[in-house]
Amino acid sequence: MRPILLAVAIAIAAPAAAQYGPQPAAPAAVPLRIGVLDAFVLRDAGFTAPNDGKTFALGVDTATVARALEAGGGKGDTIVLGVAGLLVKLPGHPTIIDTGLGPGPGGKLAQSVGAAGMTPDKITDIFISHSHGDHVGGVLDAAGGLAFPKATIHMHAAEWAFLQANPANAKLAAAIAPRVKTFNKAGEILPGLEALPNPGHTPGHSVYRITSRGQHLRTLGDTAHSHILSLGHPEWNVAFDTDKAAGAAARARTLADIAASGERVFAPHFPWPSIGTIVVKGEGFAWVPDAGVKAP
Ligand SMILES: [Zn+2]
Repeated sequence: MRPILLAVAIAIAAPAAAQYGPQPAAPAAVPLRIGVLDAFVLRDAGFTAPNDGKTFALGVDTATVARALEAGGGKGDTIVLGVAGLLVKLPGHPTIIDTGLGPGPGGKLAQSVGAAGMTPDKITDIFISHSHGDHVGGVLDAAGGLAFPKATIHMHAAEWAFLQANPANAKLAAAIAPRVKTFNKAGEILPGLEALPNPGHTPGHSVYRITSRGQHLRTLGDTAHSHILSLGHPEWNVAFDTDKAAGAAARARTLADIAASGERVFAPHFPWPSIGTIVVKGEGFAWVPDAGVKAP
């Protein structure tokens, strides 16, 4: 009886839970070079949201959004995102930028660090774009301890205040407080890594630029979520933006800056392996995956 009951329970419980929200993904690490630096994109999970006007493209009719999704090669009823982090072997400072969901919701970033040939205790620095769970969750392990025990955890001072102000983050804040080091303005934090705060999505949201031998890689954080909707229509409001107007303005400004620079981008929510460039297209922008950075 038991297996049958279990199967029935899964059949009843699974569809709604599995259809939207965090999606499982196999751990993986894809190598790339930035100048003379070795780096790896670390797969964590996937994420799907329905095209129901409640998360992306707020106030835009869903038929218009469906047409945009389909024109971009997606399905009209679903917004599909990846979740990823980035490991950069800065000289003397193996560094991770954004840590994914963490093991609770099924994030696999810790295993992907292993796939990159690195162990958690070797990571010296973690840079957080912002304090949402799909970027900061992976700083803790399954037992609630520090997943990267020797790492300094960097984030903007306004973001640390924002994280601590949310009662749901009490355990997280207590666990990481001794390791947190804040910054409050743009500038180099480690040799080859500079912070570029672009508040809007959250009060201290920051992107980072890695530089080596004249080559750059810019991280995007949640400046943009969907490579189809956020780039095609940066003006469309997103429920996850704490300040909708500031989020949309930061999105348009940052995307224009990146497109003008021609810099490569690590976009944690864009299609795996999340490395490419952003170009101007019509009134908006478009994503050009880096053909040289491919999943094996
Ligand atoms: Zn996110």
